[in-house]
Amino acid sequence: MPQLTVVVPAYNESAVLGTFHQRLREVLDGLPLDSSVLYVDDGSRDDTWSIIETLVAGNPRTGALKLSRNFGKEAALTAGLDAVANGAAVVIDADLQDPPELIPALVEQWQAGYDVVYATRSARKGESGFKRFTAAAFYRSMERLSDTTIPRDTGDFRLLSRRALDALGQLRERQRFMKGLFSWIGYRQTSVRYLREPRQAGTTKWNYWRLGQLAIEGITSFSSAPLRLATWVGLASAGLAFVYGLFVLVKALFYGDPVQGYPTLMLVILFLGGVQLLALGVIGEYLGRNYAESKHRPLYFIEEHRLPRDPR
Ligand code: UDP
Ligand code: MG
Repeated sequence: MPQLTVVVPAYNESAVLGTFHQRLREVLDGLPLDSSVLYVDDGSRDDTWSIIETLVAGNPRTGALKLSRNFGKEAALTAGLDAVANGAAVVIDADLQDPPELIPALVEQWQAGYDVVYATRSARKGESGFKRFTAAAFYRSMERLSDTTIPRDTGDFRLLSRRALDALGQLRERQRFMKGLFSWIGYRQTSVRYLREPRQAGTTKWNYWRLGQLAIEGITSFSSAPLRLATWVGLASAGLAFVYGLFVLVKALFYGDPVQGYPTLMLVILFLGGVQLLALGVIGEYLGRNYAESKHRPLYFIEEHRLPRDPR
């Protein structure tokens, strides 16, 4: 039988885990697969880990990892996927926003020969207009700035075949914009549509600050276009300066030059100062990331590991 592991990152999810596991198990039991569940506790501060331990003890084919602290969803996912030694994997959120009932549809495409099957939301229920707008703006700028196309309206909910997992396992960069990495590896990719539910319980871990960080992460790890910004702004201001220089010269030749021009001088200094700081900031973003990468630190540490109990 083909093997499938469902990887579930969980950070302070004690409110939903019970319901989640039940719904997931129901779906998995109906599939003709050798399926197991792997929870990754991303350093939760509530009793998520003790709930997970109960789930592991009470259910066959359920395992868990506990990270040594909160490393963030992307690292938690990586830890989970690294631990999948055989067969394919499905990545799903614990908050029931990704319906487990969609897994059979993902599996169907996998068995039809696809390596990455991602779930595309056809609607965003329970999200504000502003969040929808910022999400759309992000996907649009990513499309223009990067060579890697990141499918719109997809989260991390997806199925990865064995060779996709092996490929992903080789990407050890610290800047882990998972959606980008998933699509960067290539192979045969397809999507399945679904309706995204609002969170069942608990609260989202993403505020606008973290989402903004994620957006910068996505852009800097998949595009170097911002680095060229300085070149373009520099060229444009050099062009303008040339035209203005001609104008000043001609004016001085025909009308003489009574010394004036404090406002223009100030304007030019302030403008160029601003542009230079902006360009430095952009370079700093990339440099800082380069520094983080060059330390080659491990992406996570595992504190505890619960192996799944075999039903036989
Ligand atoms: N998560 C995690 N570590 C974190 C933040 C989130 O493992 O630092 C998990 C969380 O428990 C959930 C999934 O990642 O299972 C998605 O998080 P959330 O629902 O907060 O994000 P959203 O659905 O709003 O994008
Ligand atoms: Mg969520």
